Amino acid sequence: MQPISFPLSPADIPRQWYNLAADLPTPMLPPLGGDGQPITPQMLAPVFPMNIIEQEVSTERYIDIPEEILEILLRWRPTPLRRARALELALGTPARIWYKDESVSPAGSHKPNTAVAQAWYNRQAGIKRITTETGAGQWGSALSFACALFGIECKVFMVRISFDQKPFRKLMMQVWGGNCVASPSTETAAGRAILEKDPTSPGSLGIAISEAVEAAVTDPTGGTRYALGSVLNHVMLHQTIIGLEAQKQLQAAGVKNPGVVIGCAGGGSNFAGISFPFVREKIHGAQIRIIPVEPASCPTLTRAPFVYDHGDIAKMTPLMPMHSLGHAFVPPAIHAGGLRYHGMSPLVSQAAVEGLLEPQAQDQIACYEAAIQWARTEGTIPAPETSHAIAATIAEAKRAKEEGKQTDILFCYSGHGLMDLVGYQKYMAGELAAYHLPEEDLRRSLAAIANHPKPAERKTGRWGKTKA
Ligand SMILES: *Cc1c(COP(=O)(O)O)cnc(C)c1O
Repeated sequence: MQPISFPLSPADIPRQWYNLAADLPTPMLPPLGGDGQPITPQMLAPVFPMNIIEQEVSTERYIDIPEEILEILLRWRPTPLRRARALELALGTPARIWYKDESVSPAGSHKPNTAVAQAWYNRQAGIKRITTETGAGQWGSALSFACALFGIECKVFMVRISFDQKPFRKLMMQVWGGNCVASPSTETAAGRAILEKDPTSPGSLGIAISEAVEAAVTDPTGGTRYALGSVLNHVMLHQTIIGLEAQKQLQAAGVKNPGVVIGCAGGGSNFAGISFPFVREKIHGAQIRIIPVEPASCPTLTRAPFVYDHGDIAKMTPLMPMHSLGHAFVPPAIHAGGLRYHGMSPLVSQAAVEGLLEPQAQDQIACYEAAIQWARTEGTIPAPETSHAIAATIAEAKRAKEEGKQTDILFCYSGHGLMDLVGYQKYMAGELAAYHLPEEDLRRSLAAIANHPKPAERKTGRWGKTKA
């Protein structure tokens, strides 16, 4: 019998996070303020605690994981590395398919990895209340869970359309003591401005971020900060524990480096988590194809330019150098709510500019097909976001079969889909369409940011073209 699960002993859990900023061949560009000048850490102080800002701007290669954070992560980490033997057999592929199972966390996704760290750093800084936004509800539930452990109040602005469609995520937040309101809300100036124009606005992540940042910086007591579940450098950092564990587990299974590493990409955090330790190997000469997979309806890396743009619609955040569809972009209501974001992590964006990544887009029909094949072979029901990674994995496995090539494919199983069954219902009822963002919509959205400063596309040229 072949083993299909490759656990890592708790004693071998990584004790440091890995910071890709230390190894990128061209240094990261700084975020800019409204005046076009690089922002200073001090300017972020009303939004984030200083210990997190230090991580955000750090270029240290390894950063120690505080003991108290490790102790909490050990409740579900190290997560299993599994081999998808049943899917391999069903596909008849010579490729070996490995996946890192992040669905075993309390909230059911990779997000608690950073939620716990962020809540801990906020508590160290004496913060009493954290505000945030959530799309499909995974981040809001992860942060509510983490705040509960540290006695911090958690306020979540949840994108209206998900608030109405996904009552169970909202209930999870409430169980953990989080306070969840629909966004746009009447609680902030940003929310009220949107509602005035469009009282039935379905909301968007960009709008919810504006509300959450405003709610943090306008607290007169000064005891509130904001937390973001993806995109920012410190979030990518916290997620690298996924890939660092996977490296140890693969090595124990006799695999030095996989041939392909795959992760779905919304803001980029689970993708960064699984892939950055392998990007480091690639920078140092390893032959690894590294594939972020995004929805064809929200194609940030595959079709949007590398620009300076805001992270939110009200322009509360600095201008970040990233691939962006435009901060006012409201993505179509596909079911992978966690992938509906207009921007992309600056670290992931810079790695893409450098040509270290081969971004790919998948439409939601192909993704649900892949998810169903997965469920009927491997047994578990993946999150709609995760199904993007599965669709790309199946495509790679089929390609390996055509080429008669034995290769190792590693992907991040970012979360389970047990709270997202309505999407499956619609797919099975034939109510979903394969939506590709029309070129015209993209052009219109980008026109609105045409006057932003342009970041230089700096690359060494060592790794070929940017877009696959
Ligand atoms: C939030 C989420 C994503 C997308 O966010 P990233 O920051 O791109 O990882 C993917 N999968 C699941 C299960 C999620 O909850």
